[in-house]
Amino acid sequence: MDNETAKNLRKSLKADCMNCFGLCCTALNIAASSDFAINKTAGTPCPNLQRDFRCKIHENLREKGFKGCTVFDCLGAGQKVSQVTFNGQSWQERPEIAEKMFRVFPIMEQLYEMIAFIAEALTYEVSHSLQDKLNKQLEKLQSFTDMDADSLLSLNIVECRIPVNELLLETSEYIRSELSSKVFAIKKGKKYRGIDWVGKNLTGKDLRTTDLRGAYLIAADLRNSDLRGVDFIGADLRDANLNGANLSTSMFLTQMQVNSAKGNDKTILPAHIQKPFHWND
Ligand code: SF4
Repeated sequence: MDNETAKNLRKSLKADCMNCFGLCCTALNIAASSDFAINKTAGTPCPNLQRDFRCKIHENLREKGFKGCTVFDCLGAGQKVSQVTFNGQSWQERPEIAEKMFRVFPIMEQLYEMIAFIAEALTYEVSHSLQDKLNKQLEKLQSFTDMDADSLLSLNIVECRIPVNELLLETSEYIRSELSSKVFAIKKGKKYRGIDWVGKNLTGKDLRTTDLRGAYLIAADLRNSDLRGVDFIGADLRDANLNGANLSTSMFLTQMQVNSAKGNDKTILPAHIQKPFHWND
């Protein structure tokens, strides 16, 4: 797969709620918090889900205490399970398939997340051998998504993640080195994996090509910071302030991470990430 095709694939990975049977509103177990106003067990439809699988408080989710619903993004796993794995049969029409459908959804969701990261890795200029490994991994993950429900349920997702993580790490190290030396002419950014920067004042900081994998950046003040070439995989950006920050070439940043953060018109995002609607509020 060439870079352009990979870019198009990465961009195409988004939820299509019109073709989903409200799986994220039903299948998942959600504990009450500031992100979700009620306790909901896995397999129980949210009381706000209507018969047509639309949300009756869609326009007011944040005001009603369901902020997390404006953050969640299945990357297309919901419509795949609804329309392909279960051939367009809903759990309402066929209650006997409901339990299996709800167990398949989180597996598909994790496969789609891995596909999105591998697709992003393929958008970069990497060595032929790495590109070859990424392409093979992508094909494997895509073939998993076409399996039937029973085969999906028997997948060992933890094992699936191991080669994916290795490839993403290799891509990250390579691209951050290339950006540092050839684009920015700086020393490669430090490794701050899993660091606790909750609420930290990082206003205006130059963090280019830093490794922030799994970092805790909850409510961190990142206003006007330079975050180009930063690896954000697994970082927690809830309520981080990204006003005016430059994330144009941040790596492995997801729509969910951005949705969970604060930002404004001056925040520069990667091409595959959309500005969240609530940033206009
Ligand atoms: S509040 Fe709406 S979007 Fe959130 S889970 Fe319930 S039905 Fe779905």
